[in-house]
Amino acid sequence: MNILIAEDDPVNRRLLRKTLQNWGHHVVEARDGLQAWTAFQQGGFRMVITDWMMPGLSGPELCRRIRLNETRDDIQSYIILLTARGSIQDLAAGFEAGVDDFISKPFEPDELRARLNAGKRIVGLQEELVAARHKMEQLALTDGLTGLLNRRALMDALRRDEDRMRRAQEPIAVVMTDVDHFKRFNDRYGHQTGDQVLCLVADCLQASVRTGDQVGRWGGEEFLLILPGADVLQASEVAERCRELIANQVLEDSEHGEIRVSSSFGVASTEGADREDIMSLVQQADQALYWAKEAGRNCVKIYTPGPERHATR
Ligand SMILES: [Mg+2]
Repeated sequence: MNILIAEDDPVNRRLLRKTLQNWGHHVVEARDGLQAWTAFQQGGFRMVITDWMMPGLSGPELCRRIRLNETRDDIQSYIILLTARGSIQDLAAGFEAGVDDFISKPFEPDELRARLNAGKRIVGLQEELVAARHKMEQLALTDGLTGLLNRRALMDALRRDEDRMRRAQEPIAVVMTDVDHFKRFNDRYGHQTGDQVLCLVADCLQASVRTGDQVGRWGGEEFLLILPGADVLQASEVAERCRELIANQVLEDSEHGEIRVSSSFGVASTEGADREDIMSLVQQADQALYWAKEAGRNCVKIYTPGPERHATR
């Protein structure tokens, strides 16, 4: 373990360091509370052993600072206070400051080892808990089949990116795409092949977007691309790249031979348009996608509000 020790008495400090090092721990030592606080902020310490009485910053004060700086996502450091003060009031004051455990001075190696192990167990449990929470959060935002963002994550990303682009006075574009005749794949080749088609399209979309763009599954065979900073031309270039890549793919099916896939695309951008709710931009892209389907599929259409409704790339 990476252990930070804070102790102003040089003899005690050396003894503590040697003992911990003999047990295989990596030790950083501080001569007083302030030095310990500076070292702690460099990060990486899950275990802190601190003296109570020190010049500058006492053990409980150091502990209070550490606790104030911990956020919900942090794994809390385990803090052991070394003290010769053993009254109930002292213990209560220590716990109040956020201390996890006490060791009386001079320390007994057996007791130190036992309390370290208890601390290590707590830290390990916290690490597991935080990892599990992250995993749950990831799962809640990911489409199970394609691994792309799901609709909920796309909505979050849309709001976040729209907000960011509005402040930067930059446009934001969305591209809605839909696999052509998808129902036929399912009917003709079965759902497993249908799933393969969706994964193939997802991979092509992911491979064609720019850094900072977001790709997600809007639902069924519909996908949505979010392109922060893109005007309609840039967005339609990305859409065209996706369209071409998908159209060039061949899916090998052992039963039915080669299967070819195509997708239709609708593009809309806030550039030059009155900015309403971001959802109206999604509706515009959806409208353009409808035009693309009407125009024979496997093509890209741009949303325009004026008379040139069927603007093609
Ligand atoms: Mg002291």
